[in-house]
Amino acid sequence: MKSRFVFPRHTKADMPVAVAGDGPYLIDAEGKRYLDASGGAAVSCLGHSDLDIRAAIQDQLDTLAFAHSGFFTCEPAEALAEKLVSLAPDGIERTYFVSGGSEAMEAAIKLARQYFLEIDQPERRNIIARWQSYHGNTIGALSAGGNRWRRSQFAPFMVEAMHHVSPCRAYRDKLPNESDTAYADRLAAELEDKIVELGPDTVAAFLAEPVVGATMGAVPPVEGYFQKIKAVCDKYDILLVADEVMCGMGRTGTLFACEQDGIAPDMIAIAKGLGAGYQPIGALMVSGRIYDAVAAGSGFFQHGHTYNGHAMATAAGLAVLEKISHPHMLAGVREKGRYLTDRLAKQFSDHAHIGDIRGRGLFIGLELVADRETKTPFPPGTRLAARIKANAMALGLMCYPMSGTIDGESGDHILLAPPFIVENTEIDLIVDRLAAAIENSLI
Ligand code: PMP
Repeated sequence: MKSRFVFPRHTKADMPVAVAGDGPYLIDAEGKRYLDASGGAAVSCLGHSDLDIRAAIQDQLDTLAFAHSGFFTCEPAEALAEKLVSLAPDGIERTYFVSGGSEAMEAAIKLARQYFLEIDQPERRNIIARWQSYHGNTIGALSAGGNRWRRSQFAPFMVEAMHHVSPCRAYRDKLPNESDTAYADRLAAELEDKIVELGPDTVAAFLAEPVVGATMGAVPPVEGYFQKIKAVCDKYDILLVADEVMCGMGRTGTLFACEQDGIAPDMIAIAKGLGAGYQPIGALMVSGRIYDAVAAGSGFFQHGHTYNGHAMATAAGLAVLEKISHPHMLAGVREKGRYLTDRLAKQFSDHAHIGDIRGRGLFIGLELVADRETKTPFPPGTRLAARIKANAMALGLMCYPMSGTIDGESGDHILLAPPFIVENTEIDLIVDRLAAAIENSLI
């Protein structure tokens, strides 16, 4: 079909037209069913036909669709903020609703700056993030992100105040014989060196994804990493911002991914799983300390978008949160995540081109390598991940591909993030179809 919506790379590939959803499946106009093993891009945590979420959106539409946040707050936004705060790590007291992940991270960057202006530390103007990270595609969030390929074309627009340190990526960067503790110490020392180099009084915030998603394929930190990073941030009074846009909202088996690292960040950005694909919504959750400083100072956050706190989006978010925060649901994510990981390990542990299988909960990445011994990635031009995606779609499977970076510093990946409602029989099907798609792509 000739599309007037998507750009050429996609139209060439003859993109199917999605017309319906059925549990973990999407159905195209020809009636073909696709098992959604990636939740789109870690979005559809409740599948594609949840009647409770549909009813919540319909009820909200019947009463109030939208009231501009410059004039009103609204009931679903208040209820969702209240519930999120009640479930959040210590210190988080307020929630600011936006329409997606990039907006949440833009808000985090601007609020970090404004916080320090409010407390009379105007020299705090630098932000530190990590290479191989993704924080969104708007200019501020893209500048904070550390994916060289995504940044390269827009280099003239990259914000100078953004700086980068190494990611925590044990598979590629932990030295032979280096313990997890020594590796985490080394990375924390690198952050401290960067802070000292920039001038400790000039740094406002450190941003990181607790489990790295879009650029590396579900890479969790080594044990203790975030506690050491948090200690460095605290030492210099730097805000720690957790970007949980992809890994949050139950995806890793706890509602917030950072719970498993035993840290309480100053801000947490969430999105994808919060709306579960039923509505576009994101949020920036902030500590009482930050909120109070703004409230006592200028009295308002100098930021805003038209759809802040949209009534239907927040009504959907509330209905989603009620389901995904249930202890049975989160236990199910951990249990099914173990099942998926075991099945992948059985299928691929001897595979010549699967270098690493990692992740947490139902957030699993496979790294593809040309050579397992040397961990050499396939050359970027091979576009192996994209070929696997196309072959998987032909077999009725959605998996999320990521191509290796232009400079070869990481290989191609496949990200799996199926809906939390997935059954073990469907997990079996995911692994079988993925194995076939990989074989078809290596030919
Ligand atoms: N942060 C992270 C960690 C993400 O994975 C993404 C989306 N992949 C974003 C921010 C940006 O979110 P959005 O696409 O909703 O703007």
